[in-house]
This record gives sequence, C-alpha cells and structure tokens, in this order.
Amino acid sequence: MYDYDLLVVGSANADLVIGVERRPGAGETVLGSDLAVHPGGKGANQAVAAARLGARTALLARVGDDEHGRLLLDSLREAGADTVGVLVGGVPTGVALITVDPSGDNSIVVSPGANGRLTPSDVRAAASLFHASRVVSTQLEIPLETVVEVVRSLAPDSRFVLNPSPPRPLPSEVLAACDPLIVNEHEAKVILGDSAGVSDAPEDWARLLLAKGPRSVVVTLGGEGALVVSSAGVTRVPSVKVEAVDTTGAGDAFTAALAWRLGTGEPLADAAAYAARVGAATVTKEGAQVSFPTAEEVAAL
Ligand code: ADP
Repeated sequence: MYDYDLLVVGSANADLVIGVERRPGAGETVLGSDLAVHPGGKGANQAVAAARLGARTALLARVGDDEHGRLLLDSLREAGADTVGVLVGGVPTGVALITVDPSGDNSIVVSPGANGRLTPSDVRAAASLFHASRVVSTQLEIPLETVVEVVRSLAPDSRFVLNPSPPRPLPSEVLAACDPLIVNEHEAKVILGDSAGVSDAPEDWARLLLAKGPRSVVVTLGGEGALVVSSAGVTRVPSVKVEAVDTTGAGDAFTAALAWRLGTGEPLADAAAYAARVGAATVTKEGAQVSFPTAEEVAAL
C-alpha cells in the first residue's frame, strides 16, 4: 500500500507579473501595471493540480526562507498537498519575472534560485518518499543530474512520468524510464532534434519519440486534444470544447491528472481522456494554480 498516489519532484517559483504597453529597450524604463505575485513553477503547479483533484500528493522541491517560499507552501497546503519534502532555506525562492503586453504576449526571465540547488543528494535523502509513492512525475526546471537521480531512485513497481519542459536533449537512461513522456509540439521538436523535420504530422513525431526509448508517449495538442502512442498503437484523445480564457498551466494540470489516474490503475488512453477534461477545465479560468479544477468541477464539465 502506498502513502501517496503521486510524488512530484520539481520547481517552485513565484511568478511576478506586470502588464506593460510595450517592453523597454536597452537602457530604457517604462511604467507598468501594479505587480501581481502568483505561486507557480511546474513542480508546484503539478502538485497543486493533483491534490486539488483529490490525489494524495507530495512535492519534493526547494524554496527560500522568504515570503515567496511561504506563498508557495501556503498554496500547496491549501490544495491539500503534503509539503514534508519541500526543503527550505539557503538561497532565494525561484522567481519568474513576467511582462504581459496588450496582445497577451509574455516575456519571461527566470531566476531558478532554490530550484537550481535541488541536488541528487536531496533526492537520495528523500528515499522514503520514493518508496511511499505509486507514481513519480517531474519536469526540467531542476538540474538534469537531479532528474537522472530521480529515475535511479524509483521503487521497483512505481511508474515515472516526465514532461520535459523547458525542453532539452535527454539521456537515454531518462527516456527509457518514461511511461509516458508527455510533450507538446515545441518539446517534441527539441527532443527529436534533426529528425523532427521529417514530417509535420504529430502522429509521426510521436512514433519517432517512442523509438527513442520511452515505454509510451503522449503528445498534447492544445485545443485539438492529445495523442497517446505505445507499442499497442496510436490513440487520438479528443479535447473537450470549452471557451478558452487563459491556457497558463494547462499542460501542468494535464500531466498531474494523467499521472494520478495511471496510479489508480487506469489504462493510458483513459487516463489521458480524463487529463484532457482537466486541461479543458483549467483553460476556462485565468491564472495557473487558481485555475486548477476539483474532481467535482471536472465531472460537471
Ligand atoms: P502545454 O501547456 O504544455 O503546451 P497544451 O496547451 O497542449 O499543453 O494543453 C494541455 C492539454 O489541455 C491539451 O492536451 C488539452 O487536453 C487541454 N487544452 C489545452 N487548451 C485547450 C483548449 N483551448 N480547449 C480545450 N482543451 C484544451
């Protein structure tokens, strides 16, 4: 019996958002809107999304002993996630400085801060969390050597889910552990490198990605839903038609929901169909963590 349905290992950031008429050039100052500070980072987002759905969720992450760290811990606890694995102190909490222009385009500078100090030895020290977790998920906003150690720390019958964001080429040891690897179009192209140019069809990239070693691959296609690919073949998962207001966090909510449902024993295509409903519910609201739905909201969609 596992204590946790899902262990998320990953980043926690404070998102500092200012609306601007236009971005400053070098040496220039512009005035913007009032500052908004939101809890974010892909790891914390996934943990909040899963916990809000009702999954027993823990997060292994690092934050600073500062106001941003406390904001993140509060958001995790409010959603019902276990923060026993959130290490505090040493360096400032990671920050994303985000400007948004009137057309809705973002420019983002990330200071990884404490996320960059989540080390392989932090992973080894959390062995009891790994043994207590049915599914482990991560992303790439923490050092790659830490992700490699996550793969080496998995309990023998636990399952590993990776959303390689922000994308970079991955060692075969990490790719081989993924079940599934979850990518959007941009992430698929970076991981495929030169072979991405072969075809425009997502089915083709998904098959090329599968040939790189993962046990399964899920390609998310925004409003077009998702594709599930394994040795059993390709399944198309339709999206749920909704009025999209803000797509921030949709990929994180999708990944968290899929990881949780796999842990309950659901087949991959069914778990992806549920995750698509969660992604769709997320895009109907502004913001990231505040937009993640409860299971009741997903059922009502
Ligand atoms: P990412 O944020 O990683 O690029 P996507 O934008 O593909 O991920 O969104 C993840 C999932 O959320 C999609 O596969 C889909 O199921 C759902 N989703 C995203 N945008 C929409 C939308 N406009 N309408 C309905 N569902 C959506």
